[in-house]
Amino acid sequence: MGGLARKKSDALFAEALERIPGGVNSPVRAFRAVGGKPFFVDRARGCRVWDVDGNEYIDYIGTWGPAIHGHAHPRIIEAIRSAAERGTSFGIPNPLEVKMASLICEAVPSVEKVRMCNSGTEACMAAIRVARGHTKRNKVIKFEGCYHGHVDSLLVNAGSGALTFGHPDSAGVPAAFTQHTVVVRFNDIEAVKAAFLANSNDIAAVILEPVPGNAGLYLPKPGFLTFLREITREEGAVLIFDEVMTGFRLARGGAQERFGVQPDLTCFGKIIGGGLPVGAFGGRRDIMNCLAPLGPVYQAGTLSGNPLAMAAGIVALEMLGHETYNTLEKLGAQLEEGMLEAARAAGVPVQFLRCGSMFCCYFTDLPVHDLADAMKSDRDRFARYFHRMLDGGISLAPSQFEAGFLCTAHTPADIERTVEAAARALRGLN
Ligand SMILES: *Cc1c(COP(=O)(O)O)cnc(C)c1O
Repeated sequence: MGGLARKKSDALFAEALERIPGGVNSPVRAFRAVGGKPFFVDRARGCRVWDVDGNEYIDYIGTWGPAIHGHAHPRIIEAIRSAAERGTSFGIPNPLEVKMASLICEAVPSVEKVRMCNSGTEACMAAIRVARGHTKRNKVIKFEGCYHGHVDSLLVNAGSGALTFGHPDSAGVPAAFTQHTVVVRFNDIEAVKAAFLANSNDIAAVILEPVPGNAGLYLPKPGFLTFLREITREEGAVLIFDEVMTGFRLARGGAQERFGVQPDLTCFGKIIGGGLPVGAFGGRRDIMNCLAPLGPVYQAGTLSGNPLAMAAGIVALEMLGHETYNTLEKLGAQLEEGMLEAARAAGVPVQFLRCGSMFCCYFTDLPVHDLADAMKSDRDRFARYFHRMLDGGISLAPSQFEAGFLCTAHTPADIERTVEAAARALRGLN
């Protein structure tokens, strides 16, 4: 700790602590899991961020997923500028909303209709509501370590920030609000069968991150997603893929394209806003038609379909082609190979998990398939690794339980520099 001078950041953080709870507007940013203090960003461009003290970092936070084209992409900035000149919000339908809806439906064939909202949290909350309205059932199955935003009823074993702070169930959520939430281990087929058996004809939905990226990163075992598709169909429950993180990242059609399994509903956010606040949920026409004003399920938003967010998101989606995913896959493979070699040379046992441009380095010699496995990672070691990387000019998420993100602005030379920094950081960590 303390390799780089961060005087201005430290002063800002002291001031922030007086006026903002924990000094941050989202808990994981506060560095509590790794110790020390966060730096404050002055500006960002491509894969780089500069803090207010002038230090430069290669960034793997990527604004927690959205920045697939890197920061401040000139085409996205221009789209925002020109949209802003026509007005920042109308509360009246605008053409960009229609364009965005068709882009999502074209890229993700399981989505026949889609509604925009303002965050991934809202998308998940509304998807659950419409699934309940459609099935006229109450219960929802979710998985340990999967995060679906800070929705009351889903804030159970939720990974991410909640995990980092060791109270997976938030205070302020009455037990009655989660009594319809059934929590099951990820990748555990028998547990899902048992949950359906114990709640016959009352499961409205199964919601999951098809590739969980909020407890670090782990992958669905072969056949797990297909099994969920089959059992939900047999049981008359709605299968919801929360692709807020994986949508347009693991493929243009998201994890569902990559793994070849089509859910009934999908939640989006992050990338589809091009860096502006956004969320969306969509899917089968008959289910989406339950929403007001067509049906009885209420959902609304003053800023939903906001023209700035639509303009930024449309350009972000238009710039995603096959070559994007090839590029990201190559960069990911280079990082994976380099990291494994660096860890081996340093004699530090790691599990480097990767899916396309998402990755996580766990400090354990045991394979990671679920939350319990992820929890075995040596978090002290992660904290020391994190700070050494930061002092080496590499910005990773300040928690073991977060995924890292590559963007198209990373170059093979950036990856090489990152691997060199990792090799130095890992040496002597064992
Ligand atoms: C980020 C995330 C959310 C929440 O989105 P917000 O925009 O932060 O509310 C929900 N689900 C998943 C899988 C996410 O990664």
